[in-house]
Formats: sequence, C-alpha cells, structure tokens
Amino acid sequence: MPAPVIPFDNTYARYLPGFYEACRPATVPAPVLLFFNHGLAAELQWGLAGQDDAALAAMFSGNALPEGAQPIAQAYSGHQFGQFNPHLGDGRALLIGEVIDRLGRRRDIALKGSGRTPFSRRGDGKAAVGPMLREVLIGEAMHALGIPTTRALAVVSTGEPVFRERTLPGAILTRVAASHLRVGTFQYFAAHGTPEKLRQLADYAIARHFPEIAEADNRYLEFLRSVAERQAALIARWMQVGFIHGVMNTDNMGIPGESIDFGPCAFMEAYDPHAVFSSIDEMGRYAYSAQPRIARWNLARLAETLLPLIDADEGRAISLATEVIDAFMGRYQQHWLDGMRAKMGLRGTVAHADHVDTALCESWLDLLHAQQVDYTLAWRRLADLAEGNEAPLRALFAGQPGLDRWLERWRERCAAEDIESTAGSSRAGAMRRINPWLIPRNHRVEEALNAASDEGDLAQFEQLLNALGRPFDEEPAKARFAEPASADFMTEFRTFCGT
Ligand code: AMP
Ligand code: MG
Repeated sequence: MPAPVIPFDNTYARYLPGFYEACRPATVPAPVLLFFNHGLAAELQWGLAGQDDAALAAMFSGNALPEGAQPIAQAYSGHQFGQFNPHLGDGRALLIGEVIDRLGRRRDIALKGSGRTPFSRRGDGKAAVGPMLREVLIGEAMHALGIPTTRALAVVSTGEPVFRERTLPGAILTRVAASHLRVGTFQYFAAHGTPEKLRQLADYAIARHFPEIAEADNRYLEFLRSVAERQAALIARWMQVGFIHGVMNTDNMGIPGESIDFGPCAFMEAYDPHAVFSSIDEMGRYAYSAQPRIARWNLARLAETLLPLIDADEGRAISLATEVIDAFMGRYQQHWLDGMRAKMGLRGTVAHADHVDTALCESWLDLLHAQQVDYTLAWRRLADLAEGNEAPLRALFAGQPGLDRWLERWRERCAAEDIESTAGSSRAGAMRRINPWLIPRNHRVEEALNAASDEGDLAQFEQLLNALGRPFDEEPAKARFAEPASADFMTEFRTFCGT
C-alpha cells in the first residue's frame, strides 16, 4: 500500500516564520496502534482505507510522516499558576500540518509526546499511555456532550519506557484542533516580537477564526471581544456539566474557544463549588467555581498584548479593552443561565425570568451542595420527576424539607410556562437532551487507564469510550459507567499533569 497523500496546507509555518522551530519527531522503536478515530478520520477526508494498523502506527508515531507534513514546534509563553514564563512552547508536541476538513474547516494535526524539541527545557519530550488515552476519553466525551473541544485522532504506544514517579509505557497522541493558537502565543509575540509581528499574528488569528470581523472598524478590539465571547460560552458549558479543567494557565487557553489539554481535569461527582482535584493546585486557583474568574483573568492577559494594536493612544486602548474585559462576567452569566434554565426544563418566557431563574438555580445548587448530591444524577432525576417519577430524585437527598420547598418553587415556575400543559413528557424529554446520563466517571476512567497502562488491556477503555459516545441515552447495559464514584474514592482522588 503506498503512503497516503494528505493535502496539507501549512499556513502557520508559511505566514509566521520566526515563531516556531522546525523539528523532527524522535524515532520510536516499536509503534503499536492503541486507538484510531475512524469517524474523525472520515471528517478529515483522509484516504486511509487500506492502511493496516502497522502503517497507521508508523504514521502516527512520527516514524513515517505522510508527505507534505512539515513538523514544527510552536513558540509560546504563558502564565502558569499566575507566574509569567516567557519561554514555554511545544516541549513535547509538534504541529505536523493543517488540513481542510469535510465541512471546509481548517484543522491542525499535532503529535504530543513525540520527543524533545528546542522548547523542551529539562523535559524528555515524551508522554505515557495513560494520559494520552485520557485525552481520548475526555475529548470524545466532550465532543459527544456537544462542547467545543480538541479531539484525538490516534494513540500509538512507542515500545519505549518513560520515566516519571515510576516507569510507564510511552505513547504518542495525534491531536486535531481548530488551531493551537493560545493566549500564550500572543504573550510570546508581545514579549519577543515587533509590533508588526504581533499584528501579523492577530490578523492570522482573525482570518482563521473570526473572518466576520476582518472588516470591523477596530478589528483588534473586536478580536478580543470575539475570543472573550467564545470563552464565555465554553466555560458556561463546562460549568453545566461539572467539568473542572484543572490547569487553566494562559498557555492552555485556546484562541478558537475549544477545550484543550486534558491533563489534570476531572468531572465533578458530588456537587461542590470548591472542588479541585489536581495534585499541584494546592491553593485551588483552578477550582470548579473559580473557572469563570480565571478565564476573565486570562483574557485580561490577552488584552494586554493587544493594546498597541487596539489604539496608538495607550490610555484609550486600555479603556476600550477594559470595557470588553468588564463585560465578560455578564456574557458568561448569560450563557450560564441559558444553559441552566434549559437544564431545569424552562424557557425563560416569564416576566423577570433572568432574575427568577438565577435565584431558582442557585437554590438548587445550594441544596445539592449541602447534601453532597451527585451533580449529574440530580439533574437527570429531576427530568424523571418532571414525568411524575419522584422516587429516584428523592433517594438522592437525605433531608427532604429543603427539597420539597425547592420543588414547590420549581413547579410553580414550570406552571408559568406552557411546555408542561401541552405535553407532560416533553419537558422531561427536553431535560434529558441537555442533562447527560453519562459523564466520564472518575473511578471508571482510572480503572480503564490503569488496565491499559499496567496490563496493556484495552477492553475497559474501549467499552468506556463507546459508552461515552452516547451520553444522553440511558442504557441499562452501560449502567456501571454511569455510577458515581464512592465518597471514599473521591476523597483520595487526585489528578496529575501527565508530564
Ligand atoms: P502543560 O501544562 O502540559 O500544557 O505543559 C506546559 C509546558 O511544559 C509546555 O510548554 C509543554 O510543552 C511543557 N512540557 C510538559 N511536559 C513536557 C515533557 N515531558 N517534556 C518537555 N516539555 C514538556
Ligand atoms: Mg499545554
């Protein structure tokens, strides 16, 4: 079988010289294909039919890159836990090229774990099987939940050990992203480039991600507003499903508004606004409820880099940018409320709906928090209750008076809108289309990754991945994946960056 020809069109490499280093992936001794995303490959229109697993493993390990691939390590800076580091960059990743997918969208194809680059600092440039399969599970789960996300195309084990706290099997992930432009990319250009280079980067990002603002009066201000808007929408979606990213450094915040980098992330089980699982986040900087605030902080760092482009008069630039940053929480709140309202089975057509529904939702969350109720199950069982099946929801709550009072308010609020009166089941149905039955449960993710990493057994990983592809459909055969982790498991549960 001849090597497939992939029509790469590598605009970043072409337009932004000086802000990346050409770099070859390290050769790996024994590549084995652990995962291949056929659906995504079809989206990318790659003619890979007829390539056997060995050929795919050679290709997606970097041993036999397809023709037209142009591997580069991108430069970026970043605030990590609030500390500015001017020299980060792809220390263990390579952008191998860009392609246009079936829907005409330009997408980056990148390897992660492909060896040392000029940006590796003291790192080995490698990645391990567990964390790379984790990227698959979380990315595919996010995608199935309808949340913008980078996705995994392939994972290949390398046949080489990587040395962390213990020795682990090595792996390489192929990641597909709308782009790998980050807040940190702008920080790098601002710190190391000329104003002209920064303008080139901004124009590049606008052309690639926000073409609708290319002709705006102040396109750099509109760019800031557009990035902020996508983040407001994205973080609201995370909050609605209980997702905690875990390491929202400015180098991990993407310009296109996709979820990216699933190192220490986790989904919340029992509702707790302070939930934080990352072993290195000792201060809870990136806790669940901190995420909107952190997004705003990161956007303020982006705004700082754009000031010289926004207006030659610095004072005026600052006041224009500040307006956008100040509007962020309001925009986030609107996205949050739109989603939460739908989760409650409501539409927002009554008088003062925003005020009423915000208060209603906050009381519900307070109740879940006070009684340590599982976040995902509570929503799902509220849908059951909307259909008259009360017992499953009640079983989640120890003390009932608080619940009864809340349900009374909720029923009153429901009665003010006519979904219920026309068809009792339609409210429940609508709620089940937004409240997932299945999220990546932490204990199931850990089990699946441990079996894959320690024993080379991919069966659980594959079953879990398959289940996560249909998160809104309750399927008794998949019930074990929907079970919450025990409180004991969650007390001990910590996530790691996977570096
Ligand atoms: P992360 O927090 O995983 O997004 O990574 C932060 C920075 O550390 C990025 O510049 C990475 O490229 C770099 N990095 C992480 N792990 C490694 C590694 N094993 N070898 C080299 N660089 C790494
Ligand atoms: Mg990163």
